[in-house]
Amino acid sequence: MIRSIENIQVSGKRVIVRVDFNVPMDSSGSITDDTRMVASLPTLRTIVGAGGVAVVMSHLGRPKGEPNLRYSLRPVAEHLATLIDVPVAFVPSCIGPEAEEATRNASAGSIIVLENLRFHAEEETNDEAFAASLARLGDVYCNDAFGTAHRAHASTAGIARHFSERCCGFLMRKELDYLGSALESPKPPLVAVLGGSKISGKIDVIKVLLGKCQAILIGGGMMFTFLKAKGLNVGNSLVEADRLDLAAELLAQAERSGVQLQLPIDAIVADKFANDARTAIVSIDDIPSDMMGLDIGPRTSELFASIIGNAGTVLWNGPMGVFEMPSFESGTRAVAAAMAHATEAGAVTVVGGGDSAAAIVQFGYHTGVTHVSTGGGASLEFLEGRVLPGVAALEVS
Ligand code: AMP
Repeated sequence: MIRSIENIQVSGKRVIVRVDFNVPMDSSGSITDDTRMVASLPTLRTIVGAGGVAVVMSHLGRPKGEPNLRYSLRPVAEHLATLIDVPVAFVPSCIGPEAEEATRNASAGSIIVLENLRFHAEEETNDEAFAASLARLGDVYCNDAFGTAHRAHASTAGIARHFSERCCGFLMRKELDYLGSALESPKPPLVAVLGGSKISGKIDVIKVLLGKCQAILIGGGMMFTFLKAKGLNVGNSLVEADRLDLAAELLAQAERSGVQLQLPIDAIVADKFANDARTAIVSIDDIPSDMMGLDIGPRTSELFASIIGNAGTVLWNGPMGVFEMPSFESGTRAVAAAMAHATEAGAVTVVGGGDSAAAIVQFGYHTGVTHVSTGGGASLEFLEGRVLPGVAALEVS
């Protein structure tokens, strides 16, 4: 069982909150997107509102285990102070006497933001002594950083066993509930939409989904390995030659288990990998040898939208084309729109993190779906049925 922060009595206690404040910044150190910070506010407000002290810890960037002021959380702490109406103090260390004293002396209802965890190499090696030093800063441990839960780091894994009172925050709870119920008790039919560049990163998730979905719609670069495995000419499109047998096996497995594994029926092809390429819309069995497919075509978009429209639950992971280039964004935009329409019609729609989350935000449909995961790698591993170390560490009997 995993407890939630709202069920723990935190008054007068110091609550360590592992958040994901790994926010993008420009060269002057200004935060360019504070979505992740805003998303953590419900958990922080609950703690300070109940008279606890929130001791906030996070990583930021890749300082490679050494202090590097470029990656300091100080500007993040300053920004947090503008988002919440309680005192926010920054401590320029995350372990040691200064941090211990600051957390001991903090007044109830205030927030302390510690310096970047990754200034210490021991964070990513899940070092036992480092985890113990972090644990000295609180009485309760709360993890609200789903995006790093698939990594066994000191602040996500090692630290938790030092606390009998350990729990998840609202953000983590939402991820576990939505991703968990989409897989374990979905409103049928369950439809998965998979894209992205390659099959290789998504083999395990495809295998799991084949056992759970009524339909799997395949777009993105990975579609061409499937199409080639079926004997079609894919021109210069991205193909993983060493995965052709696997693609054929997955197609056969879908057939055997009666799952509709739907490949595109048309594509947008280009003469080069560039936004200003010469393009054409072609039937999927008519891809010219000297061109490459960079998006699904309009008939496929319509077909996918109609299958999504009839779904009870939709899980989407990976863009349908090279959506970063306007010439090849239409398929991904169509799926994003279809997800929003399906939601309006009563479907549960869940977007895996990473590129598909970025895409749905780019097209403005993120508020129209049931849940957009904050964790790319973490949501993929969760859907693969793997135990996430940062989640397992929160279990209490
Ligand atoms: P992934 O990291 O595997 O989820 O892949 C995401 C990337 O796949 C995005 O950056 C897309 O630009 C890229 N992508 C999508 N469709 C294609 C395609 N047809 N050819 C090459 N790359 C693609």
